[in-house]
Amino acid sequence: MKIINPATEEVITEVSEDSAQTLQTKFNKLHAAQPVWAAKPIAERIACIKRFSDLLAEEKDELAKTLTQEMGKPLNQSNNELNGARTRIKFFVENSEKYLADEWVITEGDTKEKISYEALGVICNISAWNYPYLVGVNAYIPALIAGNTVLYKPSEYTTLTGLHVERLLKKAGIPDDVFHVGIGARTVGEALLALPFNGYFFTGSYKTGKYIAEKVAGKMVPVGLELGGKDPMYVADDIADIAKVAASAVEGVVYNNGQSCCAVERIYVHENIFDKFVEAYVAENKKLKIGNPLDSPDIGAMSRPEQLSFLDSQVKDAVSKGAKLLDGGHIVEGKGYFFQPTVLTNVNHNMRIMTEESFGPVVGIQKVKDDEEALQLMQDTEYGLTAAIYSSNKERAENMMRKLNTGTVYWNCCDRVSPYLPWSGRKNSGIGSTLSHLGIRAFTHPKAYHLRG
Ligand code: NAD
Repeated sequence: MKIINPATEEVITEVSEDSAQTLQTKFNKLHAAQPVWAAKPIAERIACIKRFSDLLAEEKDELAKTLTQEMGKPLNQSNNELNGARTRIKFFVENSEKYLADEWVITEGDTKEKISYEALGVICNISAWNYPYLVGVNAYIPALIAGNTVLYKPSEYTTLTGLHVERLLKKAGIPDDVFHVGIGARTVGEALLALPFNGYFFTGSYKTGKYIAEKVAGKMVPVGLELGGKDPMYVADDIADIAKVAASAVEGVVYNNGQSCCAVERIYVHENIFDKFVEAYVAENKKLKIGNPLDSPDIGAMSRPEQLSFLDSQVKDAVSKGAKLLDGGHIVEGKGYFFQPTVLTNVNHNMRIMTEESFGPVVGIQKVKDDEEALQLMQDTEYGLTAAIYSSNKERAENMMRKLNTGTVYWNCCDRVSPYLPWSGRKNSGIGSTLSHLGIRAFTHPKAYHLRG
C-alpha cells in the first residue's frame, strides 16, 4: 500500500498490508495473551500507559511531522493533537483505578452485594484518520487499562501514525501480543469483522459504522460507534461582540481543515444581526492562509483526493439552487489536495451543504427570525453529535440546549471535547460513549455478585 503526502502527491513510502491469514494469527496471539494481561495488577498496566504518554512527549516533533505529512493537517495542529491526546491519557491514568474498582452496594445483612468490572476480552478498534491520536486513545487506552488486548486498525490514511503508536506502546512495556495493528484499508477492516472479537469499537462515517454494526450484530458483543455529524451553531441577537463570535465560528468551521467530527457545519443567525455577522465572518475568512501544512498555515491539505470533488459538488449544488458564494468555493489548482475556505449565504435545507456532512472548510450561513426557527432548523438533521448556542443570556441558551437532541451542547463555545465528559452521538452520529467514567467502563462487562456466608 502506497502512503501518499496529500500536500505534494508524492509517495512517502510503501507498506505491506495485512491479509486474512496474518490477522488470524494476530488474533490468536491476542486471545492467548489476554487472560495473562488481565491478571496483572491494574497499577502495572497503568504504569505502561503513563510511559507511553511520556514517549509521545519525547518524540513529539517526529510524530507531529509524520502525521502532517500523511494526512495534511497544519503542523501546529498536529502538535496540538499530541498534547490533547496526552491530556486524555492523563485522565485515564488518574481515574481508571477508581472506576474499575469493585463497587460494594450492600455491605450489611445476610447477603452482601457488589459489582465488579471485567475486561471484555479481545477488542477490535477500527479507526479514522482525521484525529488519529485523539480518537485512537479514546478506545485503546481504556481498553488496555481494563485488561483487554487490542487489535487496532488505523485508517489507511494514517498508517505511519498507527505504526508509531504500536512501536511506542511496546517500548513503554506493553507485551508484544497485547496490542497489534492491522494495516490496510477496507478489505482489512472487512476481514476483522469475520474474526470472533469480544467487542468492536469504531470511529468513522455513518455509512461504514452502520455496515459494521449490521455485520457483527449476530456476535452479540458490545459495539461502540463514533460517527459523523452536521453540527449546527446558532448566533442569537443579544451577543455582545459580533466580531469575536464570528472569529470563534470560523475556527470551529476550518480547524483541522474542517475535518472534525464536531466541526461547525452550518450556522443560523438571528435576522437582527445577520448582515453584521456575515460581514465579520467573511472578513475573518479572508484572513485565512492556505499552504504547505509543514509551515503551519491556517488551512493545510485535505486528506483524500475524492474530498475535493465532493466539496466542489456540494458548493455547486448550493449555488445552482440560489445560494450566494461570498468567499472561496473552489479547488486550488496545482499539486496537492487543497480547497479554499468557503462561505455561502442564501442557503436552505434543500441544499446538500446544509444537510450532508461536508468534512471540509466550507459553511452555509442561514438567516432565522427567532430562537424557535433556529431550534427547528438545528434539529432538522439525521445527525446528533454536537450543537452550539451563542447568546449573552444563560437562561435563553439553556432553554434551547435542553431541547437539542445531541450528545453534546455548547454555550458560547464550539468544537471542543473534554475527557471528563462523555463523548457520544445520537441518531446517525453513533451509539455508546467514550471518555469520562462511561468511556472507562465501556470496555468492561459488569458482573453482579450476590454473596452469602
Ligand atoms: P470511514 O468510515 O471511511 O473509515 C473508517 C475506518 O473504517 C477506516 O479505518 C477504514 O479503513 C475502515 N473501513 C472502511 N470500510 C470498511 C468496511 N467495509 N469494513 C470494515 N472497516 C472498514 O471514515 P473516515 O473517512 O476514516 O472518517 C471520517 C468520518 O469519521 C467522518 O464522518 C467523521 O465525522 C467521523 N468521525 C467521528 C468521530 C466521533 O467521535 N464521532 C471522530 C472522528 C471522525
